[in-house]
Amino acid sequence: MIEFKNVSKTYEDTGVQALDDVSFFIDKGEFVFLVGPSGAGKSTLTKLLICEEKANSGEIIVNGMNLNELKKNRIPYLRRSIGMVFQDFRLLPNKTVYENVAFAMQVIGASRSAIRRNVPNVLSLVGLAEKARMKPGQLSGGEQQRVSLARALVNKPPVVIADEPTGNLDPETANEIMNLLNEINKHGTTMIVATHAKNFVDDMQKRVLAIENGKLVRDEKEGVYGYDD
Ligand code: ADP
Repeated sequence: MIEFKNVSKTYEDTGVQALDDVSFFIDKGEFVFLVGPSGAGKSTLTKLLICEEKANSGEIIVNGMNLNELKKNRIPYLRRSIGMVFQDFRLLPNKTVYENVAFAMQVIGASRSAIRRNVPNVLSLVGLAEKARMKPGQLSGGEQQRVSLARALVNKPPVVIADEPTGNLDPETANEIMNLLNEINKHGTTMIVATHAKNFVDDMQKRVLAIENGKLVRDEKEGVYGYDD
């Protein structure tokens, strides 16, 4: 489902080698924590997955697409197959909850009937059916993250990547969001979560990929966070 084969990435402008000969395979339906110190290469790995950056060498395969061979006009198709969730939510402040989620379907040309069907379903899934008419500014941080999760899920991508999804949340709310990610994974969505949240990584006993200085240094089946921060 997602495969990195000897992937290296150097940013040309700075000469920084962000990834160095990284290889791993993530099967359909897995839950994977991506950990490592700041600057280790986690965001770079994510950017390579959605073709926001190109690898200098090696091979990346995502949902059957070999990214080395992917034509420019297929990049939107690739990105549609990966739902993204960010630490800072990235919601449109002037749109309602419903509109924020619907927008993700509009941009891919979904029909109005599909939008009317899918948006309420996914809002119910994240527990926000009652708040559909509110604007992001009227919601708590946890609720905003639920909207961003609903938006990531509404087009039913096989893979969701969450980049520090609990970074801006208090511990209790963070716990709710992590549980929700776990629930969604149990329904079959492959989940990749880049995080510094040691407590969740240690408690949830999921696969852990650890990156340091651009190198994959650990790949553990039921891993731990392994850092002090
Ligand atoms: P992480 O997400 O683990 O904090 P990053 O992937 O953001 O790590 O960064 C890995 C390394 O690549 C760092 O040394 C960083 O400074 C460098 N880097 C990241 N993005 C760029 C960029 N666009 N241009 C140049 N260097 C970059």
